Amino acid sequence: MLHWLTGRAARRRTFDQALASLDAQVWPQLLAQHDFLLGLHAQDAETLRHHTAWILANKSFHGAHGLPVTPGMCRDIAIQAALPILGLDTSLYRGWTQIVVYPGGFLVQRTDTDEAGVVHEYRQETSGESWEGGPVILSWEDARAGADAQANVVIHEFAHKLDQRAGSADGMPGLRAHRDLDARRWRRVLETAFDDFNDRLDAAEAAIPPDMDPESDEAAEWYAALPLDPYAAQDPAEFFAVSSESFFISPWAMARAWPDWYGLLAQYYRQDPLQRLESAGMQYDQTDTPSF
Ligand SMILES: [Zn+2]
Repeated sequence: MLHWLTGRAARRRTFDQALASLDAQVWPQLLAQHDFLLGLHAQDAETLRHHTAWILANKSFHGAHGLPVTPGMCRDIAIQAALPILGLDTSLYRGWTQIVVYPGGFLVQRTDTDEAGVVHEYRQETSGESWEGGPVILSWEDARAGADAQANVVIHEFAHKLDQRAGSADGMPGLRAHRDLDARRWRRVLETAFDDFNDRLDAAEAAIPPDMDPESDEAAEWYAALPLDPYAAQDPAEFFAVSSESFFISPWAMARAWPDWYGLLAQYYRQDPLQRLESAGMQYDQTDTPSF
């Protein structure tokens, strides 16, 4: 009769245990593993700790391909996943439970239809996936602390979760809790930044010398001058997910390229990482590479 009640009590106990596991020894170490968590005020850090515990208590972690998933690995993933919802509600991550962790990149089946209507099926290696209503799948090699200073697969996949929460992924997360944001403005600012990024990507590709393989390491410097990783040009959903990565871990280039888009994300996430990171002494790494 009181199943729902006992269920809740059990959930509460799991949450309390998770919170207790993020103790005065573990928590500061976990925070210190990520440069992009520098500059958090004490109160925000405490909220992040609670959201991290909520994720640990409400999601089940599974290793794939024989990977043993340790409590430390779960904590490392959970703290990164908690950052996007620091100013939001944990309920945005409801509706699914599993986080599957592969040792490294994994193969997924893709299907594309070309302009002639021919369907192409192929397998592609990826570092993360987020299924609508289903699991988040991560490559541990790419998700672990310190894996990459310019990308963050955990934030990327959880940004997709926020996007999917409001229906199919289209680059616009649910705005119901944001009276200060309207959907038309979101769409307009997103499309302007997305189109501009595609133009910049075209310009970067055109500038690569014709005798150079665009997929080679040498060509990477042309892409490095872009405000975001080229993958953001895929579609508006990927643009939102890749923008969210940069927004939290290295926001300078995108904030300079599209101040309106940065401002919209700051309003949505209710965070200002640019100000936070600069208050902690982090600076944009100026280089001589041309910008597109
Ligand atoms: Zn994606």
